[in-house]
Amino acid sequence: MGKLLIVESPAKAKTIGKYLGPDYTVVASVGHVRDLPKSNKKAIDMEGFVPHYEVSAGKEKVLAEISSLAKKSDEVLLATDPDREGEAIAWHVAQAVNFGKKPVRRVVFHEITKDAILEALQHPRDIDQNLRRAQEARRVLDRLVGYDLSGIIWKKVRYGLSAGRVQSPALRILVEREREIKAFKPERYFTIAVQTETSKKVPLPLMCTEEPKEQKEADRIVESGKKGSWIVKSVEESEAKRAPRAPFTTSTLQQAASTRLGFSPSRTMRAAQKLYEAGYITYMRTDSTNLSKQAVTQIAVVIEKTYGKEAVLTRTYATKSKNAQEAHEAVRPTDASKLKAGHDDDQKKLYELIWARAVSSQMADARIMRTKILANVSDAKAPIPDFQANGSRTLCKGWLEADPEARGEDVELPKIAQGDPLTLIDITATEKFTEPPSRYSEAGLVKELEARGIGRPSTYASIIKTLEDREYVTKEGRSLKPTDTGEVVSTFLEDNFNQYISDGFTAEMEDKLDSIANGEMAYEKTLSDFYKPFIKEVKAKEKLEKATTLGDADPSITCPKCGSPMVVKLGRGGKFLSCSRYPDCDGALTIDGKELPKDKVIGIHPQYNQEITLKTGKYGPYVEVPTGETTGKKVKKPVLRRASVPKEVKPEEVTLAQAVHFLSLPRQLGMHPETGKTITANIGRFGPYIVHDADFRSVKAPDDVYTIELARALEILKEPKKKRGFARKKKAE
Ligand SMILES: [Zn+2]
Repeated sequence: MGKLLIVESPAKAKTIGKYLGPDYTVVASVGHVRDLPKSNKKAIDMEGFVPHYEVSAGKEKVLAEISSLAKKSDEVLLATDPDREGEAIAWHVAQAVNFGKKPVRRVVFHEITKDAILEALQHPRDIDQNLRRAQEARRVLDRLVGYDLSGIIWKKVRYGLSAGRVQSPALRILVEREREIKAFKPERYFTIAVQTETSKKVPLPLMCTEEPKEQKEADRIVESGKKGSWIVKSVEESEAKRAPRAPFTTSTLQQAASTRLGFSPSRTMRAAQKLYEAGYITYMRTDSTNLSKQAVTQIAVVIEKTYGKEAVLTRTYATKSKNAQEAHEAVRPTDASKLKAGHDDDQKKLYELIWARAVSSQMADARIMRTKILANVSDAKAPIPDFQANGSRTLCKGWLEADPEARGEDVELPKIAQGDPLTLIDITATEKFTEPPSRYSEAGLVKELEARGIGRPSTYASIIKTLEDREYVTKEGRSLKPTDTGEVVSTFLEDNFNQYISDGFTAEMEDKLDSIANGEMAYEKTLSDFYKPFIKEVKAKEKLEKATTLGDADPSITCPKCGSPMVVKLGRGGKFLSCSRYPDCDGALTIDGKELPKDKVIGIHPQYNQEITLKTGKYGPYVEVPTGETTGKKVKKPVLRRASVPKEVKPEEVTLAQAVHFLSLPRQLGMHPETGKTITANIGRFGPYIVHDADFRSVKAPDDVYTIELARALEILKEPKKKRGFARKKKAE
């Protein structure tokens, strides 16, 4: 009998299977095998915060397979990922499968290479209960906070909204920036550029070292510059060193992949996961900048071979992480002699980036010569500020050899000396305005979260994804912009739960979770210290009035129908102004006090022979057509067929063909063979779906709600439900 090795992903199982002999059977748990029940808070016994886990849908088969393989083995090895999540999966497997008296041990490695795995197999250990308890504490805490905070927001703001322990502080950071941007008052200033030539007719552009705020002063400088004789005042050369940067942590990897490759954090993590599972890089969730001794030695050999001996300079980088126990290694290639790796474009590009960063981190400094030229007019009546030109020249590339993209371009300045005359070609002042602070990019937010101690390497990408899925932020180009809904949710939390979404509190809680992982703090005490005051606060807010409006509108704007004052409300499409007498009067305006988009006839529907109208409703733009059918016995009212305009289509650009296409929904796909009830496909507030007997399922690419057929719909309905709360949210529509 051999040994059974359990990992979490099939790709990882495949790679490991290749390395181990016939004595080993490698099987994948395919992620988590158990989780908290989805629906309610009873998942957690508040006495002692004991979670009640359930086998996740579809995992019975996996567990049965593991169980039968285990019977044929004489030892079970749990080889899930080397972090808390991995420790927890290992523990859940051990809990869910009855291994009898078989020895069950845990093995840990940070890279999926033959050497690392064989080495790890020499040192099996027991499951680390502190690590898995820390993961459990995070899970329980997030469930409790999410449940209670969301509950109060549903009651006091609007049904279906949500909040989360780490997601809400991240949203607050974005909303605070948005307020700074709104409050920003641009200030005028002038930049002054002079074009000159040396005596050898080489152009030398210089910029004024001061940026006056007054037009008068800018004009004076320009006038003096035009009249005077230009002369080189000084030429300074200084040598500077540029040191390489530490190898990647999760956060710096996400930032660099964003700047260099334009990848979002989740795209980066997807590609990194694949590289890791194929054995090309070390584990990608880490906050350590440490490299193992073997790795440094190997990298030094590669550097010496490629760039020469003088390029090698091995270094260690201080790690900020407080978790010595989990602080494994930076993200690096498992084999630095491999210059390229990966199965698709994303993986290949990311591998190159990881390679360059790890290798360059062990190389000599780059040496750069910086040149600064100052010039002025020699004969101005009143002195004017100096003008400056900066140049730089790489003397010795050092580590930039391995990471040339980090280099930037050399700026060569003409060779001149102090006292040399310059010929004036042109001098101009340009009016400019100071810019508001910019919005965070995804990578910028990750950096900010890390700096504030919010979240951990394993959570950055999912925090941002949650905010986008909830439609609390949208992406404009690369920047994250809070939506009206995001702003309203954040404002409510800031007003009522300020402490719980503050940086300090959130960071402190992360530290406490780390302390549970280190065995320094107890699970139950940590949770009860948090939860008792928290739930008291939540209960106290139950007494708040429901916020039916977001406040009064500007009094100069009145209801277009009855002239009453207006109030700000939150609709599906964002904020708008509503008559304060609603529901007695349904007058409404845009948030800027303009008329709401008017109904627009798009054309004649070929099937119904009736006009299609584009309208704007509470949940956004939609198209409408009266069908030939009528309803009611006495009053013959035409049945109106309506369909929302999908988010990615601009309402003002909807064509007749598109409108007809949209109106093909809802589609009746046919009858369910078991219940005899109709299955329908449609698009709702939360995207495309199919529904059978109140069982709502999302329709995701490659399936298309406009073309999906009965057979495929039946398949989807057979799948276990994945998306939490989808049916619940649907009902709220
Ligand atoms: Zn009114």
